[in-house]
Amino acid sequence: MLESKLTIALSKGRILDDTLPLLERVGIRPSEDPDASRKLVVGTNRPGVELVIVRATDVPTYVEFGAADVGVAGRDVLMEQGADLYEPLDLGIGQCRMVVAEPEGLAAEDDPSRWDRVRIATKYPNITKDFFARQGVQAQIIKLYGSMELAPLVGLADRIVDLVSTGRTLKENGLVEVETLFSISSRLVVNKASLKLKHPQVSDLIDSLSEALEDKA
Ligand code: ATP
Ligand code: MG
Repeated sequence: MLESKLTIALSKGRILDDTLPLLERVGIRPSEDPDASRKLVVGTNRPGVELVIVRATDVPTYVEFGAADVGVAGRDVLMEQGADLYEPLDLGIGQCRMVVAEPEGLAAEDDPSRWDRVRIATKYPNITKDFFARQGVQAQIIKLYGSMELAPLVGLADRIVDLVSTGRTLKENGLVEVETLFSISSRLVVNKASLKLKHPQVSDLIDSLSEALEDKA
């Protein structure tokens, strides 16, 4: 039987940087550097395997609709979108946390346990809404697509929900973390039909990635 093609969706930036070494460990090497190239479809040393390079927030969509069989996406993006995907592996890359942050001055006299109403700027309206609803806090959400740190500085919102790893960007903008929502890392996601129809290739990839991760630990 002719092996069918396996398409892997990745996003440029940190996920790509962290995923390529992992793929290398399981013997998959792009035929050209996806970061340098403008190509959106990149072949690999394996005839049956190709990469498609998409926006981080588009990875779940490509995989859910089967335009890619598997993909790598942050837990943040997966939670926010709630796509119907199989999520077999935590790849342990792209580690950071999702937090509530606010200006230092406000934080000095603020007590998150007493919040009643908050105004929050974020790229993650669904996660943020759920989080505050569960705590019985009324949240007015302002959806942004980037540079959340600016919002409190110009009075758009008192607080933000955003990802941090080192905390450097927050610090440079006079913000401090006051609460953690979730710890975040990138996950391997798989199209549910591909899992059945391309089972040999998909399970091979899952198993070898999982072994590579164990070796590393
Ligand atoms: P674009 O820059 O194209 O608008 P994006 O901002 O979503 O897309 P990145 O900033 O590269 O792209 O983030 C992609 C993913 O990397 C996020 O969804 C998250 O899972 C992870 N990530 C984001 N920020 C951090 C961080 N500070 N540390 C580690 N991982 C992060
Ligand atoms: Mg970005």
